[in-house]
Amino acid sequence: MSKIEQFLTAEEEQEIIIAIRDAEKNTSGEIRVHIERESELDAFERAMEVFHYLKMDNTKQQNGVLIYVAVDAKTFVIYGDKGINDVVPTNFWDSTKDLMQSHFKANRFKQGLIEGVLKAGGELEVHFPWLHDDTDELSNEISKG
Ligand code: CA
Ligand code: CA
Repeated sequence: MSKIEQFLTAEEEQEIIIAIRDAEKNTSGEIRVHIERESELDAFERAMEVFHYLKMDNTKQQNGVLIYVAVDAKTFVIYGDKGINDVVPTNFWDSTKDLMQSHFKANRFKQGLIEGVLKAGGELEVHFPWLHDDTDELSNEISKG
């Protein structure tokens, strides 16, 4: 497992994009997925860097969520913006993380990402319900490093 192309097929990517779109139908929050082979930085620091690089800190309600995956290190981080962290407990993403981890461990990457996206959307919905004038502030495409 060394290439991102081997990590997810084009079809699988499309399924994940659809999951992001579905998740965002229930919340004003914006979810993005970034996948790369590896990083010299600590995964959390790198997730923070990617978050800013993708301009995810520009949402109106500061409610962007990045799911960052480093394929080679088999690690991932769920990084939420300030607007989310201000209103949720620190262990807010734990159940989403656990769910994703269980799939990743069994090499079900696509399934792990899809369920992670949908669960994150469900958790976001409680604090950031979908609004009538909601727009798609951040692209649903998968970002690759
Ligand atoms: Ca939105
Ligand atoms: Ca979006």
